[in-house]
Amino acid sequence: MNFSPQLRTPGPTPIPERVQRAMAAPMINHRGPEFKALLADVVSGLQWAFQTSNDILVFPASGTGGMESAAANLLSPNERVLVPVIGAFGERFADLAEAFGAQVVRYGVPWGEAADPQDIDEILAKEPEITTVLVTHNETSTGVTNRLGEISQVVRRHGRLLVVDGVSSIGSIDLPVDSWGVDVAITASQKGWMAPPGLTMVSVSKAAWTRQGKATAPRFYFDWERARKMQAQGATFTTPAISIMFGVREALQMMRQESLPSIFRRHQRLAAAFRAAVGALGLRLLAQPEVASPTVTAVYLPEALQGDAGKDLLRTWREKYGLVVAGGQGHLTGKIFRIGHLGAVTEQDVVATASALEAGLRDHGHRFDAGAAVAAVEGVIRAPDTTLVA
Ligand code: PMP
Repeated sequence: MNFSPQLRTPGPTPIPERVQRAMAAPMINHRGPEFKALLADVVSGLQWAFQTSNDILVFPASGTGGMESAAANLLSPNERVLVPVIGAFGERFADLAEAFGAQVVRYGVPWGEAADPQDIDEILAKEPEITTVLVTHNETSTGVTNRLGEISQVVRRHGRLLVVDGVSSIGSIDLPVDSWGVDVAITASQKGWMAPPGLTMVSVSKAAWTRQGKATAPRFYFDWERARKMQAQGATFTTPAISIMFGVREALQMMRQESLPSIFRRHQRLAAAFRAAVGALGLRLLAQPEVASPTVTAVYLPEALQGDAGKDLLRTWREKYGLVVAGGQGHLTGKIFRIGHLGAVTEQDVVATASALEAGLRDHGHRFDAGAAVAAVEGVIRAPDTTLVA
């Protein structure tokens, strides 16, 4: 019997009891004073977490909705845009821009690698008609984090608009929106925000507002201008995701108590611990180590456990050991598994996960030194902070 399964998918993520209780509050009128206060708390908390004074808009939608809102508000037919594609969510951003009539320049790298800021520099220098760069910060399908600080410098130097899919990074990996000059940053409640899926949050810079006023793509549900006017009055255009907002407000309070630097450090430690466990199990990471993600670790299944055997392994982890991890996406289906470690995940949780990883692999005949993954994890989480590279 598993009384409390370990949810180690890279979204949805575990929900702390405090957040769950906050979401159980009685329903309120979304045109009344309590909602006005709720919206103000959520928006100011998000501005703190995004490290921005830009406007933040919230919509009842998943992260893809936030991405679609950017396309609908910023693009016009035949607009030329650059999308660095380093995995499935980069593909999604490119497909989405195409669906809105943009001419998409796709810059791809092999899955497991990050975009090279120098390549982006060269493409933008060669293509002055590219107006906008749509980039994934943390590619959840491969467990790779793009070097967004450098990319943002390049994009700014070329004077193009920078739109960032920060769905699995903001609030877990440092993304200082204002100091990096990110025009639009997008995230969603089921990731580092420790809440259920259903709320997308989008920050919009002055330059993005100027573009929004000129862009001609069709928009309705996600019209940012209408959302801004409504939010200025303490309301939203449609019925908001009230219970999820109760949860996000509570989660933001917990995050403020922990502080952003501590949260970012915790995620780095968890990721380092999982990478050590993977090595101790004789398994291979998908990501190049220097760009491996602090929030999700993608691991090749052992040769003998790829395909259907891998599905069986995931079932054993889930049914026998209460460990829920994610499989691969796209051409990596059946080849990798992904461990999510963002949001409400502690260092002690990682010890339990390593133990369950070992147990399932042992049941399926994979050979390694018993206890090696647990020991590797403990080695990392007991080490002083200074041994971790930022
Ligand atoms: N981008 C990234 C980086 C993601 O991780 C996800 C969700 N896994 C999405 C976009 C899409 O978000 P959603 O599933 O909430 O629409």
